[in-house]
Amino acid sequence: MPTSVLETVRDELLDYQNEGMSIMEMSHRGKVFEGLLEEITARLRKLASIPDRFDILYMTGGASTQFALIPMNLCTPSREAGYVNTGVWSEKAIEQAKILKVNIFDSGSSADKNHSYIPAVKTKSGLDYLHITTNNTIYGTQFKALPASGDTKLIIDMSSDFLSRPIDWTNIGMVYAGAQKNAGPSGVTIVVIDKEYYARESADVPTIFRYSTFAKNQSMYNTPPTFQIYLFGLILSWIEKQGGLEEMDKLNARKAAHLYSVIDEFSSFYTGHAVKEARSLMNVTFRLPGEEMDKKFLKAAEERKLIGLKGHRSVGGMRASIYNAVPEEACQVLSVMMREFAKQNGG
Ligand code: PMP
Repeated sequence: MPTSVLETVRDELLDYQNEGMSIMEMSHRGKVFEGLLEEITARLRKLASIPDRFDILYMTGGASTQFALIPMNLCTPSREAGYVNTGVWSEKAIEQAKILKVNIFDSGSSADKNHSYIPAVKTKSGLDYLHITTNNTIYGTQFKALPASGDTKLIIDMSSDFLSRPIDWTNIGMVYAGAQKNAGPSGVTIVVIDKEYYARESADVPTIFRYSTFAKNQSMYNTPPTFQIYLFGLILSWIEKQGGLEEMDKLNARKAAHLYSVIDEFSSFYTGHAVKEARSLMNVTFRLPGEEMDKKFLKAAEERKLIGLKGHRSVGGMRASIYNAVPEEACQVLSVMMREFAKQNGG
């Protein structure tokens, strides 16, 4: 979270805009929260240039819940959908689709090389949708541009790169993301969905699990996570102040370049997990020569208050997650430390 956002929260925590109470104490059906929700939705639509054919929904249950809701609601009777497997999160999405008896069309996979690259995407006519994960949080790979998908619309898990760069909506059917990486705290899931999908929903699906229920009720069929939505709104204002998504993208590219340049400079010491063409601007993954060196690196990093760098066990080594709110200076500090560490340890 950007520090300035946390400061606003602190200042408004007991008394939201002279209402005499905290936003989290107010009814979601009161005019203050309803007004806020409308304002935030308009703000997101403008910031991310979301066309009118989409609804913006605020849901709960994280991206993991969407893995199940997508096959429950977006299939036609043919029940065939394409899935690209770029790692653990896409595998989990595929797993849920299989439970829900979707015929999976193999749209590509990077499993043969431990998801270190982005595979060519295959599609065919008549698929219900084609599911991709734009940023692969664990492996540090990212689609640089959305793949062509023929006459099939893309359903995109943008959990770890939502609002980090502009989005080309042309061939998109739905985007979903838990807010907790770039867009706020955990607890609210943002869903941007093409309204034409509601016609596919089946009466067999319980009301609360249907997208149209959220659309018809302005995301208030049940009590929405009001405090998280408020925080999401503050993050949107913060991104606006940074200059919007294009500026965010430029800043994120500069941040990542600090780290990738050290990896390239000391390529016999640091080994990047992702191939160059697929390098993520959100998660920078690299290994050192051996586990002992990993431990030594983590200790040296901690001494400079650089924490949380241990990579996921399926990749090993390090992962620097440098989401929107991580300042460029933090990436500079890490890059200086990486350079020194390599020199001191024979790199
Ligand atoms: N997809 C991606 C790309 C993720 O990074 C994550 C969480 N790290 C998830 C899905 C799962 O999200 P949640 O915990 O919100 O269910």
